[in-house]
Amino acid sequence: MPNFIVNKNAQATGEHEVHNLDNNCKYLPDENNQIELGNHLTCQSAVYSARAYFIHVDGCFYCASECHTK
Ligand SMILES: [Zn+2]
Repeated sequence: MPNFIVNKNAQATGEHEVHNLDNNCKYLPDENNQIELGNHLTCQSAVYSARAYFIHVDGCFYCASECHTK
């Protein structure tokens, strides 16, 4: 199962992006700006758990594209 993190910092548009660490994303936040979400079968499940921290959550366009909405 892939390992996911969410960015502590919001995008300019207000969403906190969820990244899949197993997809070699070039747009990962600095390690100290990452909150570990653990292993999830799907990015939908990772986004759901990121909502425990932030109201506005979106999948990264590059590494969690199935969950990218904005
Ligand atoms: Zn990403």
